[in-house]
Amino acid sequence: MASPVPPRVPRPGYSPPNFNPNYQNTPNSIAENMQNLQINRPPGPPRMMPSTSVPRPPPFVTSPFQSSAPSAPPPASFPGAAPVSRSGPPPAGIPRVGPPASGPQQVSNLASGRPSGSPFSQHPPFGLRPPPPGAYPSAPMATGPIAPPPNVQGPTSNGPPVFAQGTLLGGPRFSSIGSIQQPAVGPLPVGSSPMDSQPPSMRPFLGSSTSGTPLGPPPQPPLPFSAASQGMPPTSAPLYGSQPWQMQPRQGGPLAPGTMQPPRMFGMPPGLPNQTMPPLPPGIGHPSSEAPVAGPSKIDPNQIPRPIPSSSVILFETRQYNQVNSPPPATSDYIVKDTGNCSPRYMRCTINQIPCSGDLLATSGMPLALMVQPLAVPHPSEEPIQVVDFGESGPVRCSRCKAYINPFMKFIDQGKRFICNLCGFTDETPRDYYCNTAPDGRRRDADERPELCRGTVEFVATKEYMVRDPMPAVFFFLIDVSMNAIQTGATAAACSAISQAISDLPEGPRTLVGIATFDSAIHFYNLKRALQQPLMFIVPDVQDVYTPLQTDVIVQLAECRQHLGQLLENIPTMFQNNRVAESAFGAAIKAGYLAMKSTGGKLLVFQSVLPSVGVGSLSAREVEGRTNVTAGEKETHKLLQPADKTLKTMAIEFAESQVCVDIFVTTQSYIDIASISVVSRTTGGQVYYYHPFSALCDSAKIYNDLKWNIARPQGLEAVMRVRCSQGLQVQEYSGNFCKRIPTDVDLPGIDSDKTIMVTFKHDDKFQEGSECSFQCALLYTTVYGQRRIRVQTLSLPCTTVLSNLFRTADLDTQFAGFLKQAANEIPITPLIQVREQIMNLCINILCAYRKFCATVSSSGQLILPEALKLLPLYTLALAKSTGLRSDGRIDDRSYWVSHVASLSTALAIPLVYPRMMAIHNLASKEADPSLLPPTIPLSSEHVTDDGIFLLENGEDCLIYVGNTVNPDILRQLFGVSSVEEIPMQFLLQQYDNELSKKVNDAVNEIRRQRSSYLRLRLCRKGDSSGPLFFSYLVEDKTATGLSYVEFLVHVHRQIQTKMA
Ligand SMILES: [Zn+2]
Repeated sequence: MASPVPPRVPRPGYSPPNFNPNYQNTPNSIAENMQNLQINRPPGPPRMMPSTSVPRPPPFVTSPFQSSAPSAPPPASFPGAAPVSRSGPPPAGIPRVGPPASGPQQVSNLASGRPSGSPFSQHPPFGLRPPPPGAYPSAPMATGPIAPPPNVQGPTSNGPPVFAQGTLLGGPRFSSIGSIQQPAVGPLPVGSSPMDSQPPSMRPFLGSSTSGTPLGPPPQPPLPFSAASQGMPPTSAPLYGSQPWQMQPRQGGPLAPGTMQPPRMFGMPPGLPNQTMPPLPPGIGHPSSEAPVAGPSKIDPNQIPRPIPSSSVILFETRQYNQVNSPPPATSDYIVKDTGNCSPRYMRCTINQIPCSGDLLATSGMPLALMVQPLAVPHPSEEPIQVVDFGESGPVRCSRCKAYINPFMKFIDQGKRFICNLCGFTDETPRDYYCNTAPDGRRRDADERPELCRGTVEFVATKEYMVRDPMPAVFFFLIDVSMNAIQTGATAAACSAISQAISDLPEGPRTLVGIATFDSAIHFYNLKRALQQPLMFIVPDVQDVYTPLQTDVIVQLAECRQHLGQLLENIPTMFQNNRVAESAFGAAIKAGYLAMKSTGGKLLVFQSVLPSVGVGSLSAREVEGRTNVTAGEKETHKLLQPADKTLKTMAIEFAESQVCVDIFVTTQSYIDIASISVVSRTTGGQVYYYHPFSALCDSAKIYNDLKWNIARPQGLEAVMRVRCSQGLQVQEYSGNFCKRIPTDVDLPGIDSDKTIMVTFKHDDKFQEGSECSFQCALLYTTVYGQRRIRVQTLSLPCTTVLSNLFRTADLDTQFAGFLKQAANEIPITPLIQVREQIMNLCINILCAYRKFCATVSSSGQLILPEALKLLPLYTLALAKSTGLRSDGRIDDRSYWVSHVASLSTALAIPLVYPRMMAIHNLASKEADPSLLPPTIPLSSEHVTDDGIFLLENGEDCLIYVGNTVNPDILRQLFGVSSVEEIPMQFLLQQYDNELSKKVNDAVNEIRRQRSSYLRLRLCRKGDSSGPLFFSYLVEDKTATGLSYVEFLVHVHRQIQTKMA
């Protein structure tokens, strides 16, 4: 029952030292770790969490974000494009467009099942939920055969150790915290002294002379902490306690004291970190000529910038000595101590200093954006988020902009008043919140109050933040039983996965479930216990859908567990002879929505074919698109847009009723993801894509995906708003949500994996030396039915010095922004133009640096800012990615676009620049606690015919087998002695030998790190699967794309042209 554990999640058997003692009876529950936060019990007036009852708010009074003050500003003061956070009229108080469709009359329905006691005295409905490790622990195969493929059983499953045996289970694996393998990408996180120690002149690219070794500065001696942590016992003292915090000397590092450089606008501080590239020979051809390059004698492919894997955990304090620290790479393994700014896990900015003016930002060429992941899973060693209850008065807020009290609000007049760090307004301190200030200007109680010393807190929401009682957790499953779904085993796989995922849900009164199947009609099931067996209701009208009574089809899990299990077991046989090929997807989701309209909840849909009948039906327009290929790419991109507005309109309706839709696409053909995915993107859900679906290979993944979907930290009926200091305004939100007013995004569902990008623009100037704050407020209902406001605040210094922007640029965040920007453009712009835009973004940034910041004047060199030295590589990789390649399938590209839309910063780079590692020689390697072998540059010159290579991008895991691999190795890994004998329907098995064990361990570790049960695919040299593998080797030259070296030359030329 062991399994990979998603990153930053307590390992089984391990309780973080700061774990909430209230919940140690179920220490493994991730949901609890996230949701049952420590209650702050301030000594003063803000009273403690009510211990007996939660006041029941009146339904539908005010917007969650409305001020509690009755005097909401008139709508007239909020023109459509009103900036979110700036001076001027208070932007809060915008009423919702209307109450959720579920009317007040429904509320009484819900109330019956809702506990009224203290949230902490009731058994959390999800209390028995296994930890996310549990997301993987028992494969369908291990706990019960998945129905369809009879040969998928027991130990033949994909990575049996994942389920059966416990490298991660039981053992306090976390003790090896210091050795947790880092994702390969990302700049050297520790000890990377800036390049300025290098003469900035003609030095070639610094870096590894051999692949895989760190590039750039010599490795620093290990941090004291890293070293110490190696042997740290699993439950040793809290990391934050005795251990003095070491600052992370990383690239960009702690912002130098006095974050300002010499006060020249375009200062050229000597030794600004940069990299140089050797001069190019003059006159080497035109920009478009191929391989003009200087050749290896001039640019050594082994010397160009590449990601540096690091194997130590980074400790990161968000602020020190009132200075902001630049966060470690998103792709690294780090532990955060929140000392005023929120953890970068929740919110990170593209630049860690804010340009004082819009002109300066424009000059830099860099984007100004935040990646917000408000429910991200923290590292188990991090301090839990504190919950603060201000009682009936609710949290203290700025009366003008409604920003929440935070560590950067400045108390004046001995604490009698405070100045808002977002809009500058001065408020009276509420009498019961008064405290005197110390000589340093801080309130004397600041350290005792989380909201005054932490970048992240959760406030208990008062009735003003509720439009109705917090909703229960509702799961409604919709299963495609059309002929194709039955015959491919998709229906059986779905039923099996649901059955097992549900078996782990506790029978709390707040957990409701329902189920329906559909082909050209919709079949509901009455699951009430009183009935002998589930009754089926058929809804044949798929144009104008109706549903049976909600009370019949959505019932408490406790009441229907037996019926449900029985039904799920029977569905594949009930429909085994189904000859209906049509699928009424649109009608089915509409019916599901109607059934759960009064409560809201999660609608989980398993869909196998193109929706062909009923409302929202689609046509096989990919075929039409192909015939139009001669019309050029101009038309093709339209296939990436929804076919029409039907599904979008429905989705908005769903969102208004707090229904979040996740779609599991198990198909072997075109299904028009561009149209279908709109439903998930609008409702805060996501699309899972199993193509080409194989019951044999994909059943385990479906189960694990579903299980994580249900078990991960998540919130319901959420609304989010980001505010920023006067001088900036929010330009745009991007992600999976529904937006009905300019300032807020509505999130029927929000979970730990979802990220929202927020872009900003200047509307005023900042003073040098001041700070610019960002504050994200997420109002949501926990799965336990508590209404909370999670508030994250990040305050960054403002600068007039361009080089400071480059020095503190955040590569991972900037790249995630480019990725999302590209994904947003793909459906509306021809691919070739999107590629050009991306290239230009990269070139403009590097050109600005070269022009204004670089110290070397020779134009013969490509000079890269240290913090962004990998930007060209990732840009090239993006241009060659599934989303931007011209030769991809339409659905693959649509899925990519939909996947990227909510992708986290940490997963952005791996998606386009995967990790590759050799696995054929693992057995001979010394025991490596990190479980993962070193990564290899993505170039085919590193892929040998006698080797076996693993490549993973967070979604897929490809295993490439060369054609001259030693038969012994093949036998150890695959149980066969020739490459041809390995079945293409590939399952990784564990055999009784060291090599097999290590490879399985590595795959499981990757799954843990990615919080994803990666799909394994076999690629062989010599057959059609080979090119798939090589298509990921982005440093290679391809028929349509430059090699990495060529691309650097191209970038260099473009910069020279711009500077000329
Ligand atoms: Zn304010």
